[in-house]
Amino acid sequence: MKLLLDKLGLQAVNQGSCVGPDGWLDTKGPVLTSYNPTTAEPIAAIVQTTPAAYEQVVAHAQTAFKSWQEMPAPKRGLMVRDLGVALREQIEPLGELISLEMGKIRAEGIGEVQEAVDICDFAVGLSRQLYGLTMHSERPFHRMYEQWHPLGPIGVITAFNFPAAVWAWNSAIAAVCGDMTIWKPSELSSLVAVAVQHIANRVMADYGVSGVFSLVTGAGDIGKLMTEDTRLPLISFTGSIPTGRKVAQTVAGRLGRSLLELGGNNAIIVEKDADLDLVVRGVLFGAVGTSGQRCTSTRRLIMHQDIANELTERLVKVYQQVPLGDPLTEGVLMGPLVTETAVAHMQAALKQAQQEGGTILTGGSTRPDLGPQFVEPTIVKMPAQSPVVKTETFAPILYLLTYETLEEAIALHNGVPQGLSSAIFTDSMRTAEAFLSAAGSDCGIANVNIGTSGAEIGGAFGGEKETGGGRESGSDAWKAYMRRQTNTLNWSRDLPLAQGIQFGEG
Ligand code: NAD
Repeated sequence: MKLLLDKLGLQAVNQGSCVGPDGWLDTKGPVLTSYNPTTAEPIAAIVQTTPAAYEQVVAHAQTAFKSWQEMPAPKRGLMVRDLGVALREQIEPLGELISLEMGKIRAEGIGEVQEAVDICDFAVGLSRQLYGLTMHSERPFHRMYEQWHPLGPIGVITAFNFPAAVWAWNSAIAAVCGDMTIWKPSELSSLVAVAVQHIANRVMADYGVSGVFSLVTGAGDIGKLMTEDTRLPLISFTGSIPTGRKVAQTVAGRLGRSLLELGGNNAIIVEKDADLDLVVRGVLFGAVGTSGQRCTSTRRLIMHQDIANELTERLVKVYQQVPLGDPLTEGVLMGPLVTETAVAHMQAALKQAQQEGGTILTGGSTRPDLGPQFVEPTIVKMPAQSPVVKTETFAPILYLLTYETLEEAIALHNGVPQGLSSAIFTDSMRTAEAFLSAAGSDCGIANVNIGTSGAEIGGAFGGEKETGGGRESGSDAWKAYMRRQTNTLNWSRDLPLAQGIQFGEG
């Protein structure tokens, strides 16, 4: 473990507040210990940000913004290109640190860093494509167009489960847009954030800039300072629905902007003509991957009644063969849950499911023999979409429901408060198109013959309803990180007014 920490520049005790190269602040703040969820043993500690240090970080970012916003976007892109290269160089140790600190398996940890690298590549291309429209003016010898300007220092508050990728979704895009990001990672995965900041610092040093990527650490108190801070025009928040609701209300109270990436309750509909081999693989990755701790994890399986028995039997069989254990061990597919509280939440949800008429078909138990935070991947057959099924429990629980008609399946699918990711497995083009139509899935992401998790970065990522409506990363999500300005330019020798208004003339 020491070797891994050394590779990433981590020590037994690390500062957790940084404004850029050589900019680690000695805050004398409270010390947070980061624990390995596999063993419940400490990994290293982080000195958290105090309110005074937070002030320093924001003031620094405000000053640094003045010159960063004036650097041409393609030049900003060059720095982000090098950030991608630097992350790629550290892909293995950083991926392993993600596994060590939050418990996803090594392949997923490395995949997460790969995602951060891909986003940097995407952002580099974007740095030459921050396009605005031009419009024809109704007035002669006038020109109208819009341009996109940087917003300023923005606050990025992230969840524990994607400690590197979500930062990259925001920070790589924001950087080419000319913004500074002040990142507050989850208190459950802050060591990864310190390691990422070291990498970002080296790249900023090469370009002689600072404050483009800054770090603050702590729990909700520091997050709250950010949401209340009028100097941060945008708060990009990734986390649970209850916390997101508080963040949204606070930011709206000061008329700031928030970009919300909140919880999901993702379902797969399986039609009777579906390729069940694909379904089993898609469900396994979606429901068991990351121990059910992805925002896009598959939580509900809505099966046509004709194939329900066969599919259930096949899933129960593969679930019973899922290798559990240390996420850094080759061959393991499911590691621990992030905290003992998460284990308790899973147990409480299973109890509630049984009270609501559910039957546990496989799993359901904790695995103290492996460690205090290990649980079995669990399948629960439900008689109806009862309250527990409508709630996101961040654990590997898959609820089974059945249907007769596609209308019924879509009604069940959409009958939850969340709206992040969704999928249908079918060989029928008509059924697939119905699912993707306006009257079909109400989610931000809708897939055909692909599970609910594992999105590519090129598409805009996010969801509807209580998932918060925000879009990060791909497509034109960059617009959230900029302010739009409409410009009208008169090159005539007259001053005609819009709508033909005559004012004080003749
Ligand atoms: P969480 O809501 O407990 O914490 C998220 C972040 O909010 C943390 O950094 C935390 O310190 C901070 N925070 C806590 N109180 C705050 C406050 N009052 N003001 C500001 N910030 C505050 O979430 P979590 O348990 O870390 O993550 C799991 C949740 O995140 C799940 O619901 C999951 O679906 C969601 N998630 C969503 C996406 C997405 O893209 N939609 C991605 C990853 C995770």
